[in-house]
Amino acid sequence: MKARKIFFEQQLEAIGQCGMKDGKRSRLAYTKEENMAFVRAWNLMHGAGMRISQDAFGNLYGILGPRGRKVMSGSHLDSVEDAGRFDGVAGVLAAIEAVRMVSESGAKLRRPLMAVAWRGEESVRFGKTYLGSGAAFGKCTEETLERMEVKDFEDEGRKTLRQAMRLCGADPSCLKAHLKPEWIHSYIELHVEQGRVLESEGKRIGIVTSIAGNRRFQLMLAGLGLHTGATRMMDRMGNEGAEGADASFAMAKIILWLREMANGLNTRHRVDALSDVRMACPMIIQNGGGMTTTMQDIAMRFDFRSVDRRLLELAKADFVRDAKEICRSEGISCECQDLAAEDPFELSGEMVDRIGDACTGMGVEARIMPSGAGHDAKVPARFGVKTGMIFVPSKGGISHNPLEDTDMDDLVLGTEVLAETMRRLAEEK
Ligand SMILES: [Zn+2]
Repeated sequence: MKARKIFFEQQLEAIGQCGMKDGKRSRLAYTKEENMAFVRAWNLMHGAGMRISQDAFGNLYGILGPRGRKVMSGSHLDSVEDAGRFDGVAGVLAAIEAVRMVSESGAKLRRPLMAVAWRGEESVRFGKTYLGSGAAFGKCTEETLERMEVKDFEDEGRKTLRQAMRLCGADPSCLKAHLKPEWIHSYIELHVEQGRVLESEGKRIGIVTSIAGNRRFQLMLAGLGLHTGATRMMDRMGNEGAEGADASFAMAKIILWLREMANGLNTRHRVDALSDVRMACPMIIQNGGGMTTTMQDIAMRFDFRSVDRRLLELAKADFVRDAKEICRSEGISCECQDLAAEDPFELSGEMVDRIGDACTGMGVEARIMPSGAGHDAKVPARFGVKTGMIFVPSKGGISHNPLEDTDMDDLVLGTEVLAETMRRLAEEK
């Protein structure tokens, strides 16, 4: 079975144009830009002769083959702000192409093949991941629907998820699960790696064993805004116990400690370089202040990830303790607020073997590896569906960036591995 390179070249470009504005691509969850990409996916599924359905949350399903438990593949069509072309879209296109390939191969299918395009995988807009896939499995709650978008992305006032869904033609009045785990035979998601492991090892296919979890939280630093000219340096250094310090010093110390601590933890605790803890401070929000006032109130947001839950917990507890100590010594008050917590998740060992068998049959050497990033695949996996993932290399390991790139030949090969695995799963007794 051969995947068509031209299909990927054309469709990555076409879907990549959805959400292009002023040279930047942003296709956020439940926006008209995301809708445009869904129309394209609908057309592709239709063109492949699939039976198409959409659930109340706007997720799109295309089916070929007999009735029965589905062999399913897919990914998401939303993106981060100023995104590349591959994250999510590569997996949706691979699923559509693989379903077409298997059904045209003359394989004797015992069960149907299903391609899915999920809504809202990225947390950028509503601060929550897996909105579409989670909702499809019945995980969307009234509380989730009331989530406010992080900032006003469309200049029309901030919306709740419920409002955004309605504007996209979804029906948030029905929160019932659309998919039951027992209806699904297996789920495989192809995704770009978004890191440099495959590239650095010269491998073209990765088979994912587990998906990292996260701990997201913010530290609220409260110092005192002081006149930048009138206040002597000795009066803004924030000696221990002193009131009224410039919060920027504590902030800087915390950031530097973050790197040192991550390196220390990883040297002491990691099993290998792929199970390490990844600690970042991707956002710092300053409230108030100005050019002539020292920093007073700062919210520092942290995102810690690891496939090792124990290491994740340890990193967060130790880091918050140390950050509070730094603040105390700087005369700054510090409070911690939790934002999100997801435990790491092991994918199905059987699926790792099945994808591995397909690779062996095709003479492809694969790298068995964990995923540092989160993916929709985690949702069906949590609901007990046999779930696997295929990675294809990201050039330079760059992702969540317009420079995101994957060699088309690698994407074609990944799709052929996906199709071969789906064929075997759909044919077997
Ligand atoms: Zn993704």
